[in-house]
Amino acid sequence: MFAEIIAIGTELTTGAKLDTNSQWLSQALGQIGIVVRYHQTMADDLAAMVKVFRTAVERSDLVIITGGLGPTQDDLTRQALADLVGVELELNESSLAHLRHLFASRKREMPERNTIQAYFPAGSEPIENARGTAPGIWMKVPRSDRDHHAFVAALPGVPSEMKPMFEHEVRPRLPHSGRVIRHTRINAFGAGESRVEELLGALTARGADPEVGITAHEATITLRIVAEGQTEAECHTKITSVRADVQQRLGSLIFGEEDEELQHVVLRLLQQRGQTLATAEAGNGGLMAHWLTAVNGFESAYLGGVVAPTESAKTTLLGVSPETVGTYGSVSEETAIEMANGCRERFQTDYALALTGRKNDTPEGTVWIAFAGPNRSEAIEHHLIGDPGIATSRAAKTALNLLRTNLVACESPG
Ligand code: ATP
Ligand code: MG
Repeated sequence: MFAEIIAIGTELTTGAKLDTNSQWLSQALGQIGIVVRYHQTMADDLAAMVKVFRTAVERSDLVIITGGLGPTQDDLTRQALADLVGVELELNESSLAHLRHLFASRKREMPERNTIQAYFPAGSEPIENARGTAPGIWMKVPRSDRDHHAFVAALPGVPSEMKPMFEHEVRPRLPHSGRVIRHTRINAFGAGESRVEELLGALTARGADPEVGITAHEATITLRIVAEGQTEAECHTKITSVRADVQQRLGSLIFGEEDEELQHVVLRLLQQRGQTLATAEAGNGGLMAHWLTAVNGFESAYLGGVVAPTESAKTTLLGVSPETVGTYGSVSEETAIEMANGCRERFQTDYALALTGRKNDTPEGTVWIAFAGPNRSEAIEHHLIGDPGIATSRAAKTALNLLRTNLVACESPG
């Protein structure tokens, strides 16, 4: 069964609001095995709506429309649905009683215009709205061949009303597809998208089951595994087997799953070992400190950070020697190592990470990243490429990943 989603509202087509309903509905439909093939966003325009609805019912088995069910002149969805099948709008007495009751319970007089919300295309069914005034509309619309039909559900645009209505009213009305779809995401860092694709080989082939897709976001590579089956257990088995295969091919490039970022993983590893971290940063606005402090519950693992863009901050706060900065420059291996060592000493932590670069220094900029631990320190040179915002994130992730690989390499601490 194929579905299509139509988001109605001039506020969407003008760019004043983003259509998030279609995204949410596609995910909800995907969970129950219904594939969405089209998203459309359109303005409040009656003639255009009728045309778009006609196209949709001819090519899709299920059409979900959101928006345009309110009481105002520009809310045209119910009229467009009536025009679509060539029927009149009819008063539904029980919906009207419900509307009146709703206004009375809020101690407000019902504006005459709201009566329109109790009118439905002849032959359709109201979809109850527990949270607002606009009921939805459920219809079976014949295709032009007359042998087939499509189901149409029109829901209000307000997400907090639309979502429970979909869950409680629309989903139970849907013919059961008998298919279940489950997703998992595996996150990797340290190699480019094309290298990862190469390592994965046939796993990412089109039409493979489960399907493995690759996306990159600020240098984090995410593998999205999509398994389809008759039951949840079948999907689970498929995902487990692909996960093992991916693990074998990518090894330590993999750092986490689902929404996990490098900072979550690093903090978890440190906490498991009862170890601590501090950071020193120059040229990136303290991005690592920002990420590390944003994760709750790891105050005993991340003890603090210094943002040291100036030479004097590096020398007074981190104990970098002025000679080092003078001789090698503030963006150098020597300065990075001294920043990491000084940071580790001052915070009395097991580990420190230091990063030193120049603000917005792309495309050719260099960043030095240093790691200091109980037994050793190490620095790596990193080159900034591309958009400055993303390049900064990538550098900070490279630093966190340097710590992660060091932690993983010495499995038993101490
Ligand atoms: P109402 O009774 O509230 O008028 P409605 O069905 O007419 O319901 P709209 O007027 O189209 O809905 O939208 C109401 C509000 O819901 C909009 O201001 C917008 O903030 C939000 N909204 C509408 N459509 C979407 C969408 N596709 N994604 C996210 N938010 C939306
Ligand atoms: Mg409205």
